Amino acid sequence: MSDSGTGEAQFDARAQQLAERLDVVSQRIEQATKDAGRTDKPRLIVVTKFHPAQDVRRLAALGVRDVGENRDQEAAAKAAELDGLDLKWHFIGQLQSNKARSVAKYAASVQSIDRMQLVTALRKSIEREQEASGREDLACFIQVNLDDDGGAHRGGARPSEVQALADAIEEAPGLLLAGLMAVAPLGADPDAAFGKLAVVSEELRENHPEATAVSAGMSQDLEVAIRFGATHLRIGSDILGSRPAVG
Ligand SMILES: *Cc1c(COP(=O)(O)O)cnc(C)c1O
Repeated sequence: MSDSGTGEAQFDARAQQLAERLDVVSQRIEQATKDAGRTDKPRLIVVTKFHPAQDVRRLAALGVRDVGENRDQEAAAKAAELDGLDLKWHFIGQLQSNKARSVAKYAASVQSIDRMQLVTALRKSIEREQEASGREDLACFIQVNLDDDGGAHRGGARPSEVQALADAIEEAPGLLLAGLMAVAPLGADPDAAFGKLAVVSEELRENHPEATAVSAGMSQDLEVAIRFGATHLRIGSDILGSRPAVG
């Protein structure tokens, strides 16, 4: 464990708790990876939404480099406050096109791309930001809706829309097509959901072989996601605890 020069490592009780939970989750990931017979290691994104910037600082001191947020206002504020830290911010929530400019300033990836209009908005915003600050390309994940009824309540494009979105992202300078993201439908069998996602990923890679990322797996279902090939895991509550109620 290193404090990586943040100068403000907080070894208080909360830091201790985060360290222990992070350790448990890391062991679960290691075990599940082994059980799946995989030699590659999925990447852990710690989802810090609703938790204060101070917790993100503590996590950074514990070696966490990837954090996930789902609301622009909150993410932008935290990213600004923690500007000196060696962190990658991943945007994982539903994103309005008019927030693309803001997200382009701090996000390393947007994992919730679900419509053409958002690709266009991100493309323009990243181009502008690259001219202004020379930022790196934005890693783009297409969010897939795994609900059988195609209901939009958890967000995401239908599997049949993935190909066109992938083509548009690939054509856009400044946007890098990483792969897919999905959330298992509430109450559904995660095996079926992540199995379906693996098929959509396979189909995507027929035309876009570089789009290998599969961001799947949350606190409750990370083992299943790893079994079905997840390359990125988004873990919130099992590390940070339950989220404060939203007012
Ligand atoms: C909140 C959130 C997570 C983390 O979920 P936990 O159950 O707290 O681990 C992962 N992905 C998305 C898209 C989220 O909104």
